[in-house]
Amino acid sequence: MKRFLYESQPSRIVFGDGAIKEIGKEIQLLGMKNALVISTLGKNGMELAGKVAALLGDLCQSIYPKAIQHVPIESVIESVEYVKKNQIDGLITVGGGSPIGLAKAIALETELPILALPTTYAGSEMTPVWGITENGVKKTGNNVIVKPKTILYDPELTTTIPAKLSVTSGVNSIAHCVEALYSQNANPITSLLAEEGIKSFVKSLPKIVENPNDLSARSDALYGAWLGGTVLGTVGMALHHKLCHTLGGTFKLPHAETHTVVLPYAIAYNAEYTPKAIQSISRALNSDIQDVAGTLFDLIQSLGGPVSLESIGFNEEDIEKAADLATKNPYYNPRPIEIEAIRDLLEDAFYGKRPGPIPKRV
Ligand code: NAD
Repeated sequence: MKRFLYESQPSRIVFGDGAIKEIGKEIQLLGMKNALVISTLGKNGMELAGKVAALLGDLCQSIYPKAIQHVPIESVIESVEYVKKNQIDGLITVGGGSPIGLAKAIALETELPILALPTTYAGSEMTPVWGITENGVKKTGNNVIVKPKTILYDPELTTTIPAKLSVTSGVNSIAHCVEALYSQNANPITSLLAEEGIKSFVKSLPKIVENPNDLSARSDALYGAWLGGTVLGTVGMALHHKLCHTLGGTFKLPHAETHTVVLPYAIAYNAEYTPKAIQSISRALNSDIQDVAGTLFDLIQSLGGPVSLESIGFNEEDIEKAADLATKNPYYNPRPIEIEAIRDLLEDAFYGKRPGPIPKRV
């Protein structure tokens, strides 16, 4: 066994059908008596927020359905003002990474506790990472103050996620697990969680695509999302997350779709340098060890997920700029970052070229 450091972060998890019904008890444990329910503005966000507010009765001060992706600074200023003016004593998020992102930005300034009811598989609820976008640039930071104190994972809240979003959000979570396996600070615990996380999605996503109301499959996927979020919040990521951050931040590509397209190529790029991770991924995918990246590509395609950057709105002429940006500042990656090879990776991803077999020495 190699030397390792494992640092766990406290959080209280209530998992399972009907977990939402525990919300009154759970927010009182956090000392909330005048809570704000944060969601996105769409029909689904409003419905979910209304459901939570109804369960809370007098413990809910109001609903704040104004979360948008990437947390613009203007929305943070407005919401912090609202929170202070209304003497809010706690934040409840219902929805995906967007409401959680806004709550984290509010908590950064107010130190209010957060209870999260995640309804996608993005995993932000398990991390101390916040992000705020100002003048088109997303600034991120790490502060344990913003990490939700309690998380209620209720599979029933996820049956409305459309099949396509379920797939892309699921692969977003698989990406956290994959990079955790070859993380600079990977350790035996996170590696166990990561392999189990990938397995949960491999098992559940085909069933969800067939029947989005399959509660047992939804439960498996949400379990995978918890594991993916846990490893994302515990160990550092690498090339894949850097590429997705660049493509999302500078070229405005959609978050989960970008993760879905890029992941097989990031695996292929690192494969020769990450034999243990490749073994884990191949066990989880039940695939030939030499064809891990291609097997994941096939799985995504068979589930109706996007497999080319072209199909999600990326322009071929931006490949050069994206490669430059993603290689400009040094960061950890198991294989050295080589600009030529990154350009090739982006070109293959642009056209959706199935990744080839990994050289035999893995
Ligand atoms: P999101 O919260 O914007 O949700 C995506 C879409 O799904 C929205 O239109 C939303 O209304 C809809 N939706 C959510 N739940 C639904 C449900 N149950 N049924 C039907 N529709 C539903 O996006 P996301 O993919 O969950 O998260 C992405 C954001 O989170 C990005 O801004 C990303 O940077 C951030 N993120 C942050 C971290 C972190 O650690 N800080 C981790 C992962 C993601």
